[in-house]
Amino acid sequence: MATGAFRLQFDNAEEVELVRESIAFFDELQQHADIGLYHQGYLFVARTDEGARMQAKLVAAQRQWGLTDVELLSGDEARERFPYLAADIVNARFRQADGWLEPRRLALELARASGARFDTGVSVTGFIMDGDRVRGVTTTTAPVQAEWVLIAAGPLSGPVAKLAGLDLPLATVRRHKLIIPDLPQVPAGAPMTIEFETGAHWRPAGGGAHALWTAPAPAEPPLEDVPTSSAFAFGLLDPRSDHALARIVPFWKDVWRSSRLQWWLQAGQYTYTPDRRPLLGPTPVPGLAVNTGYSGHGIMGSIGGSRRAIDAITGRLRAEDNPLRPDRPMQARVFDIL
Ligand SMILES: Cc1cc2nc3c(=O)[nH]c(=O)nc-3n(C[C@H](O)[C@H](O)[C@H](O)COP(=O)(O)OP(=O)(O)OC[C@H]3O[C@@H](n4cnc5c(N)ncnc54)[C@H](O)[C@@H]3O)c2cc1C
Repeated sequence: MATGAFRLQFDNAEEVELVRESIAFFDELQQHADIGLYHQGYLFVARTDEGARMQAKLVAAQRQWGLTDVELLSGDEARERFPYLAADIVNARFRQADGWLEPRRLALELARASGARFDTGVSVTGFIMDGDRVRGVTTTTAPVQAEWVLIAAGPLSGPVAKLAGLDLPLATVRRHKLIIPDLPQVPAGAPMTIEFETGAHWRPAGGGAHALWTAPAPAEPPLEDVPTSSAFAFGLLDPRSDHALARIVPFWKDVWRSSRLQWWLQAGQYTYTPDRRPLLGPTPVPGLAVNTGYSGHGIMGSIGGSRRAIDAITGRLRAEDNPLRPDRPMQARVFDIL
């Protein structure tokens, strides 16, 4: 489902560090197993003066967090490097070392290397309690006793936590991926290209592209199978749309006009926390921890996040040193667009 992209261009130092750890691991893993990793970069482009100002401010902040390889480009510089960009792009920020990988290959490789046993098709149905302490889970097959139980159920994490009487601050929001298998217009070496003002974005994939849009959307109940809506595809492809891909890259107008255009859609859910950062570590219920709430960044956050969750359980990471502990005070975050 996920498009498997990763970036360090975040709006806060904690996520830069968390994802940096993941990417170092992905790079190392790619040396031994092909997880389809490419560092083709993330290119955020702004069409308005206000957007351009915000991009410049963000790059300055990122430099303070040690992220020194983000390039801030004028519109002309950006068009010189990426000739397919529209004439009215005001500025762009680009980091070559951002990129993407194949999430399925990554998951299978991690599963193989872990040596752990996986029971597929088995669902957790409840918790085994010893007083107020969780001691394991009941499942659709046999119960499992455990010293600690960690909830990592993605969009279903909220309902699973409720089985232990725990309310997690999670909201699930439908997110689509538009897959276009065959697109001669898309340069195979292009970066992830994002309109800063709308969040609409695309990247090359195979001989075509993946395109996404993550505008504010209402929360819906958590689902295993998420239905798609064709309106999503038209919103990105129809040049008259207020978040059309053609706004920043005119060749998308040719794609729209082409009689050969074929596409399909997939949908999943982002699991958002109020501050759009994950919940990692022990909860107020003894014996119960969480590793969830990645807010759309769970592939790139997976390694750094899981390491922190485990360290928080074992005591290597103290609660006061864990900015992503589940019971932290949270402020709604407005800035990050993806
Ligand atoms: C369209 C789209 C594009 C995305 N693109 C990106 C991207 O480019 N980069 C990125 O970093 N992230 C991306 N994401 C987000 C990413 O997919 C998630 O953050 C990530 O998959 C979360 O991983 P997870 O292991 O926490 O949850 P999941 O991958 O959802 O896995 C949870 C698992 O728990 C299981 N489960 C649920 N309930 C139970 C139960 N009761 N008992 C047993 N098992 C249960 C589920 O079946 C599932 O297998 C995207 C998401 C979407 C929807």
